[in-house]
Amino acid sequence: MATKPPTGDPVQDAPQVEAVQHAAAGLPAVAHSLRIAQQQMGVRRTARTLLKVNQKDGFDCPGCAWPEGDKRHTAEFCENGAKAVAEEATLRRVTPDFFAAHPVADLATRSGYWLGQQGRITQPVYLPEGADRYEPVTWERAFEILAEELTALASPDEALFYTSGRTSNEAAFLLQLFAREFGTNNLPDCSNMCHESSGSALTETIGVGKGSVSLEDLHQADLIIVAGQNPGTNHPRMLSALEQAKAAGAKIISVNPLPEAGMERFKNPQTARGMVRGAALNDLFLQIRIGGDQALFRLLNKMILETEGAVDTAFVGEHTHGYEEFAEAARAADWARTLTATGLEREDIEQALAMVLASKRTIVCWAMGLTQHKHSVPTIREVVNFLLLRGNIGRPGAGVCPVRGHSNVQGDRTMGIFERPSTAFLDALDKEFGITSPRHHGYDVVRSIQALRDGDAKVFFAMGGNFVAATPDTAVTEAAMRRARLTVHVSTKLNRSHAVTGTRALILPTLGRTDKDVQAGTKQFVTVEDSMGLVHSSRGNLAPASPHLLSEPAIVARLARAVLGPRSTTPWEEFEKDYGTIRDRVSRVVPGFEDFNARVARPGGFSLPHAPRDERRFPTATGKANFTAAPVEYPELPAGRLLLQTLRSHDQYNTTIYGLDDRYRGIRGGRRVVMVNPEDAHALGLPDGSYTDLVGEWKDGVERRAPGFRVVHYPTARGCAAAYYPETNVLVPLDSTADTSNTPASKSVVVRFEKARNDGRDTGH
Ligand code: SF4
Repeated sequence: MATKPPTGDPVQDAPQVEAVQHAAAGLPAVAHSLRIAQQQMGVRRTARTLLKVNQKDGFDCPGCAWPEGDKRHTAEFCENGAKAVAEEATLRRVTPDFFAAHPVADLATRSGYWLGQQGRITQPVYLPEGADRYEPVTWERAFEILAEELTALASPDEALFYTSGRTSNEAAFLLQLFAREFGTNNLPDCSNMCHESSGSALTETIGVGKGSVSLEDLHQADLIIVAGQNPGTNHPRMLSALEQAKAAGAKIISVNPLPEAGMERFKNPQTARGMVRGAALNDLFLQIRIGGDQALFRLLNKMILETEGAVDTAFVGEHTHGYEEFAEAARAADWARTLTATGLEREDIEQALAMVLASKRTIVCWAMGLTQHKHSVPTIREVVNFLLLRGNIGRPGAGVCPVRGHSNVQGDRTMGIFERPSTAFLDALDKEFGITSPRHHGYDVVRSIQALRDGDAKVFFAMGGNFVAATPDTAVTEAAMRRARLTVHVSTKLNRSHAVTGTRALILPTLGRTDKDVQAGTKQFVTVEDSMGLVHSSRGNLAPASPHLLSEPAIVARLARAVLGPRSTTPWEEFEKDYGTIRDRVSRVVPGFEDFNARVARPGGFSLPHAPRDERRFPTATGKANFTAAPVEYPELPAGRLLLQTLRSHDQYNTTIYGLDDRYRGIRGGRRVVMVNPEDAHALGLPDGSYTDLVGEWKDGVERRAPGFRVVHYPTARGCAAAYYPETNVLVPLDSTADTSNTPASKSVVVRFEKARNDGRDTGH
């Protein structure tokens, strides 16, 4: 029966390797989406659900944060969106009987894939101190347990309130309000692990930590540079936007250590021509060394400065600050040394320069390939330098485009989920609610793990996500989590984090995006913000997976009432009954959300203001867009080692594993693979198909080992290797992070290869 989960643990992890593909999407993607959707939901529910994804009266895709255009197709989703929806709208259920049959120790041996395949959690469950398995608990008792632990803390700063990027604006606003009324800014979120480097660099240089382009800008661009990003798997509908831009005459340069099928050719399933032939997207592929992007943009900037008439002197003179210092550093860049960092030839960069100089409207898009290195913040600042030189910010068809990975990760930050909130935000919050928010900064993700490890944090509460699988240094993180007095997860489905518990643990099951949300007899909706600052509603249309679920806003409201009691004058009950009352408060606290309820009621929602884009106004410390002049950095690689980047497979969304294939890269039936350039593999004595252990090298001398990976000879850049996370998170040291942003440096891990102690098939997860 299609909707039954697999019995036993299906992870054999015996990867098979086929030919790498050179085109993405098309008929195989449609077939794959429908097969997975029908396995999880059955035929009728599949049709009913998928036709509402990303529609103006439907629900927001729980996958990535790519925006929808004004005109929607009947099928407004990609293969990975369909998989994300199927996972959530599945008919499979995890009941109390399941927990009775599976002790926590058993869950800890299961793969993430197996856990996710069991289905939706139907009731709150509790792991008492000393017990070996979760047992059913009432919601009342669950909140009492939370209140017991939180009120017993020596300081509110011993509590951590984590948010994943699925959380709606309404739930996020309530969670940060509760945390601050309780007395802490410990609001780590998944942004800390992905685009924190972008936010840090953009806030300093242009005054707004978000992207400055719309879909319309992409369609109007002359040149789009896609750096450190694999849209074919991670933001698949971005390929349609690139296709449209190309049809209007844009050129595309992709910059990546691995060639990716989606950037080579996109077979748009919405058109007959697309299904058959597809469109080539790349005009130029720069196969860069991992971590060489700052060097690349520095060389482009040097050449722009040396080309007469190439700098937009009017824009630079009127709108920028720091030009002379930057120009001096860029002109002084040493060609040979800087080129070595990129792994490219000088002709490659000259070819790119010709395309840059021919463009009047240039956009740079990027993702984790730029944000997860030690020098990520200066890298993104160098991208900004590049755009400022030719006036490519605040002009149609031009700008910065950090592409966000999870559907509301940007909105959660806008709602105040941030461990370092601005004084202006806290002042507005305090005035609206008559509270006194703490002014000292809280913990981000890495500091939260350190606080748990060191006994400085004792209660961990997660609004969604899979914290221990998403975070670095798995062994350290899991040991830290086990030191907590209470771990709490608000979840729709099982994952690894439920098996790594504190002394006591709770799982609080919640509504998903696809579920109908009725409060006090009235149907509610929530809102989200996409990667381009568009805010819109999301309305589920399915009966909830169980009558025992609470929505995320309801969970926070009841938590706040249980913990704060009568000392809080915030109308938590009213917020739970009517989410419109939450939006009324947001409209008075968060700039850009004025008249929130009325504006979000419009089909398609509304766009948030962005001063650099809208007015060429730069709210920075200098009042101008800031050029910066940092020394060029790149990862050093000792002899006999490779630089490993962790990445996703195509059957994966963040830590959710939908299947064991990575179709475009030609890998099937397993995930413990390491992709190595054939020449490097030859030099290191790593035959294709052999098994190896990956051993991380870091200055602390601690051995971090990921055992049993099958070597795959793959056309990645020389000196570089790639393998999937979360399996390789164990290799990322907790204190190997980006300067300024503290984002884990998961894209530049020095590894050596040692003879495999086993072939990886008994590793479980
Ligand atoms: S591109 Fe992203 S938001 Fe759109 S359907 Fe695919 S996964 Fe969902």
